[in-house]
Amino acid sequence: MRRLDPALWLALALPFTAAAQETILVRCARLIDGSGAQPLQPAMILISGDRIRAVGQRLEAPAGARVIDLGRATVLPGLIDLHTHLTGETGIHWEDELVKTTPGHAAIYGVKNALDTLRAGFTTCRNMGPTWPFTDVDLRDAINAGAVPGPRLQVAGNYVSATGGAGDARQFSIYVDVPVVRNLADSPDEIRKAVRTNFKHGADFVKILAAGAVLSKGIAPGAQQYSEEELRAAVEEANRWGRPVAAHAHGTAGIVAALKAGVRTVDHGTMLNGEAIEILKGRKAWYAPTLLVGKLIVEQGKALGVPPAEIERQKQLGALAGASFAMALKAGLEIPFATDAGVFAHGLNAREFAVRAQFGEKPMQAIVSATRISARVMGWEDRVGSLEPGKLADLIAVAGDPLADITELERVRFVMKGGVVYRDELRSIPTQ
Ligand SMILES: [Zn+2]
Repeated sequence: MRRLDPALWLALALPFTAAAQETILVRCARLIDGSGAQPLQPAMILISGDRIRAVGQRLEAPAGARVIDLGRATVLPGLIDLHTHLTGETGIHWEDELVKTTPGHAAIYGVKNALDTLRAGFTTCRNMGPTWPFTDVDLRDAINAGAVPGPRLQVAGNYVSATGGAGDARQFSIYVDVPVVRNLADSPDEIRKAVRTNFKHGADFVKILAAGAVLSKGIAPGAQQYSEEELRAAVEEANRWGRPVAAHAHGTAGIVAALKAGVRTVDHGTMLNGEAIEILKGRKAWYAPTLLVGKLIVEQGKALGVPPAEIERQKQLGALAGASFAMALKAGLEIPFATDAGVFAHGLNAREFAVRAQFGEKPMQAIVSATRISARVMGWEDRVGSLEPGKLADLIAVAGDPLADITELERVRFVMKGGVVYRDELRSIPTQ
């Protein structure tokens, strides 16, 4: 087990339970607002309570306002990761988690992981499922209540998987039962029931396993797991509740079936083809690649608790994920930002940017991906993803210029969420 950084204790001591009520004027050398527009240099942001009131080159500080001068830093919107697994301890394989740990263990580590993620600059995440069902619902609610610090969350609650599929939580001997985990659904009717059960217990969206997975003994990653009819049942039922479906999919057939069924995102999307690209161009669906995780499973899988057979599964996917990303870039798709953090340590999410850059993604494209585009995918473009009046005061700062070096985003020095500062390692000069 890793020891907690003393800085984390300091962050825990911050008054995160107090709702932001202050008026704050933030000054910085450069502001990238998330819209894709050229940076504002210099820039100021006026914040009142949890909201942004004004953004401009020169703003007057109202009487009594606190001034936070970030000097030569670049300010950006809080980053968004569409694919995290925040609950549980990183490095424990999910099968061991189910037979050797408790939901309490998962929840406690979830608190630590949420803080690591927030302090790394990710102020909003879509949590793609916990091993212990619904622990992410409790984490989301505790964060929203101000009981613990963490990103704003949309959560999956429980996976929806076919028997023998990627998310089958009973991949043990047939004589070993994991009685409390019920996530199997094998027909449109069972899927409807699973979707309803998840929403009843607090899920914000549905995570369905459309194809096999790397970290599983189930059906191979390239194989389709659910029929288009089954996937459509999930989408129809979720849409009745006004909520979207996110489909885990590596193989082409699973990706295409999920897109035809009407999912909001295909996550991983390892084996895109021309048909998938055409559907992605024409519909309200997005491809959410996770390139870093595949690289880390091959390089550090053993240390991350991944069994050899599953490292082998990742090796067989090889360069396919990168080729799909390059194809999507070339097709001009809007590509959101996702990582699969939890398979690797939380807080390293921003390392995904450098991997994407190797395939030709430009820094401004990358920033818009993790801000405006990801906010839109979550249906939260009215509150996060850009720095403009009326939006939540979720902002981060880095010492250098991320347009010159995208890895600056791996070194976030200042984090504000909803007008409350959670990290401040740049010069902060209070006045008045
Ligand atoms: Zn995942």
